[in-house]
Amino acid sequence: WHDKLLGGFRRTSDRLVGNLAGLGGARLDEETLDTVEEALIASDLGPATAAKVRDRLAEGTFERNMEELGIRLVVAEEVEKVLRDVAKPIGIDAFPRPQVILVIGVNGSGKTTTIAKLAHLFLEQDYAVMLAAGDTFRAAAIGQLKTWAERIGVPIVTGPEGGDAAGIVWDAVKQATAIGTDVLIVDTAGRLQNKRELMDELAKIRRVLGRLNPAAPHDVLLVLDATTGQNALSQIEVFKEVAGVTGLVMTKLDGTARGGVLVAAAERYGLPIHAIGVGEQMDDLRPFDAREVSRIIA
Ligand code: GDP
Repeated sequence: WHDKLLGGFRRTSDRLVGNLAGLGGARLDEETLDTVEEALIASDLGPATAAKVRDRLAEGTFERNMEELGIRLVVAEEVEKVLRDVAKPIGIDAFPRPQVILVIGVNGSGKTTTIAKLAHLFLEQDYAVMLAAGDTFRAAAIGQLKTWAERIGVPIVTGPEGGDAAGIVWDAVKQATAIGTDVLIVDTAGRLQNKRELMDELAKIRRVLGRLNPAAPHDVLLVLDATTGQNALSQIEVFKEVAGVTGLVMTKLDGTARGGVLVAAAERYGLPIHAIGVGEQMDDLRPFDAREVSRIIA
């Protein structure tokens, strides 16, 4: 797993190191500090973290020249501080069961794959898992989730294309309760193009859930594609407003140089980051370790 993680953040790290290249050994005057700050922003780490690193470097302890490695160490420390507060695996502690996890995100973000990965993870932890195919707008989404469910070996509740998502959720909670399911993971339609409809649909799902269990949904997980960089941040903004996001999963950190956006998201929104995706297979999702990730990034 560490190798995958390393591979996953390699390009992000290469970019950051590239942006900082040549700054080592220079006197840390205002100009150099500005350049460091800009380099960090250009690496998607977000303005707040960049400013903190700048302040640390300017503290005076570093009046002398500083080698590149020293700068990176300060970056790693500041990144770790930000990530430490948000790195939280999803705990399964709902009573009564099932714990209902609503998964939201735009199409293509990796929502379906993330649901499969989560199901696999919970199964590995000996929880009884069920899926609900609440994205009824795309026949492909239903089929894809079904295929995953069969592969992983978990039950799934589906309905026809264009069917009523809230109805599927109702059936799923009933069935999950009847057979003692611990975790019910619900896929939803990711149509951000029509905010009103999306909002109405999510509100309806929430009403149905609330009638069966006032505490549900226990989690509203937003799936974000790291390759979209700053765009991922505006998605948090919108989904927070329409869906009441409780936590994030960032996908596709493998093969992107924009992994720094993870830090920007953490800094700006403080939402728990439950897991990160570094590949297309079902075991390519793991809770992440703030220290490990920060050391890789910088
Ligand atoms: P959805 O439309 O949001 O449900 O997205 P999918 O789950 O179908 O994923 C879209 C594409 O992204 C698929 O080809 C997935 O295999 C791929 N994908 C999802 N997560 C990851 C990831 O963490 N890394 C990589 N490399 N690909 C991913």
